[in-house]
Amino acid sequence: MPDTTSAGPVPAAPTADCRALARALSGLHFIDGAFVPAGSGRTFPVVNPATGEEIGQAALGDGTDVDRAVRAAAAAQKEWAKVPARKRGRLVADCARLLNEHVDELGRLIALETGKALRTESRVEAGVVADVLEFYGGLGSELKGESVPFHPTMLSVTVREPLGVVGAIIPWNVPMLLMALKIAPALVAGNAVVVKSAEEAPLAVLRICELMNRVLPKGLFSMLSGFGPECGAPLVSHPLVKKVTFTGSVETGKIVYATAAQKLIPVTLELGGKSPMIVFPDCALDRAVEGAVTSMRFTRQGQSCTAASRIYVHRSIYERFGAALAARVDAMVMGDPLDEKTDIGTIISPGQFEKVRSYIEIGKAEKDGSWRACSAMPADPALAKGLFIQPHIFMGLPPTSRLVREEIFGPVTCLFPFDDWEAVLAEANDSDYGLAASIWTNDLRVGLQMAHRLEAGLVQINQNLVVQANLSYGGVKQSGLGKEASLEAMNEHFTHKKTIMVNMA
Ligand code: ADP
Ligand code: MG
Repeated sequence: MPDTTSAGPVPAAPTADCRALARALSGLHFIDGAFVPAGSGRTFPVVNPATGEEIGQAALGDGTDVDRAVRAAAAAQKEWAKVPARKRGRLVADCARLLNEHVDELGRLIALETGKALRTESRVEAGVVADVLEFYGGLGSELKGESVPFHPTMLSVTVREPLGVVGAIIPWNVPMLLMALKIAPALVAGNAVVVKSAEEAPLAVLRICELMNRVLPKGLFSMLSGFGPECGAPLVSHPLVKKVTFTGSVETGKIVYATAAQKLIPVTLELGGKSPMIVFPDCALDRAVEGAVTSMRFTRQGQSCTAASRIYVHRSIYERFGAALAARVDAMVMGDPLDEKTDIGTIISPGQFEKVRSYIEIGKAEKDGSWRACSAMPADPALAKGLFIQPHIFMGLPPTSRLVREEIFGPVTCLFPFDDWEAVLAEANDSDYGLAASIWTNDLRVGLQMAHRLEAGLVQINQNLVVQANLSYGGVKQSGLGKEASLEAMNEHFTHKKTIMVNMA
């Protein structure tokens, strides 16, 4: 058992030694400008899912820690709101520059704690974090109100004011990026933020918090680790928290919403998805196959809320598409997340591992349908305890199957043949979720009609780009409430509008 208790100081300069960094960050929150242990002194283990080894400990936060962080945030926010908006933006952009120097380090640390492959996922995520901060850093002067033509003798204007302390609760799949999409607009808009990290991935976001605290005023941005009911719930219910932004499961999102309702505070909820991809025979087939690989996030073991987990392919190219997709995924290398050659890393935790495996068993037991397991399991004995699962492609399951209805959050996608676009549109919309969708066709008449009628927050034609900083993103139906990314997210979701009227007569 490695010793994760005798940590040295957290290094100031970027480090390639992610194991030493994980130990140094162990057992700590970051509250009011400083690393501190939990008030209770308790911690919980952080595990590398590729080996099962304990890589460190995280502070086990509770309501006492939440209260400390929120009070410090409320005090800091009062001063921060007085800082001119463009200057707030400049400081967030300075954070982006600092984080850019730590991209490789953060990539290694997140790969170590989540099992996501360094080259294809983890380092990429770290780079996008800096990009999101840079984007919002330039938007300070866009916190605009309006002038309203109310009466010729009356000046009537609206101004945007910060909400106060924002509570942000994040998941483990892309914790750094999803955090950046919350903290950057919140801070530029003049709010303070307290983040509760996901229990499976507390370390890389803690490092980011410490780095940003070298630039930002003390107390403005704090980081707590701990479990949902003990640490997340008191953050949501704290009287000084005036907005909650949450990414996670539908179940927990509803609990958060219900608690926020008692305080009448606004919430943003980014929840699950079961995103359809619809492939017509006139599309460029190899581009569509590549689009399925990207959109299904096979490099992230499918652990994405926008994963293209229902792929409808026109019957005339159905078998060909299925074979091409399977061959493409088969060629991907599953292995040590920290190895540059690896395309696909591991599942996050034993719980998720069992859940994904049980879905695969359910799929195999269906009377109709076939399946194919792709990409070889890693041979390295050091990875024998790793949470690796081969990507599975199911074909022709009944539409009632749980694999088709429920979010799996794993490397499992389902292909179905279709004949008619009106019918496939109805099938695509027959879901509790409505996060994203893509259509692959060169017939814009059909493509655009479908784009308008698909029940989803984001529809793409002939591409499957991942979340972009300047495009608003968020779902309908059970996929959530409100938008993230873009100017809209900052203005609509992290400020409130005040009307001011002046009688000039
Ligand atoms: P998962 O299925 O991955 O555990 P969750 O929605 O439960 O998804 O978790 C997402 C985030 O929500 C995590 O940071 C988790 O700790 C937090 N969380 C879980 N339960 C609660 C709760 N009751 N109140 C606030 N946050 C919670
Ligand atoms: Mg949970």
